[in-house]
Amino acid sequence: MAQAQFICRSCGKQVRGSADERPCERLAGWLMVTEWGGPGSVGNCFFCCTDCLKAWADARDPQVPDVFIRAFDR
Ligand SMILES: [Zn+2]
Repeated sequence: MAQAQFICRSCGKQVRGSADERPCERLAGWLMVTEWGGPGSVGNCFFCCTDCLKAWADARDPQVPDVFIRAFDR
């Protein structure tokens, strides 16, 4: 079994899998998002916690975040 490496898309935390350890044990508590980019284009994103997943999702949200709007409200 080849070594697998998982990197949190949000904070960069890494988890390295070893031959005698299954990814499902190593990645306990992690989250995976499968992004369907179209025919033949499938990407997996890994996140170490829900906060990292939320930060990533918020960054992709096309809506202007409230904090950005409030920055001009001074
Ligand atoms: Zn993370």
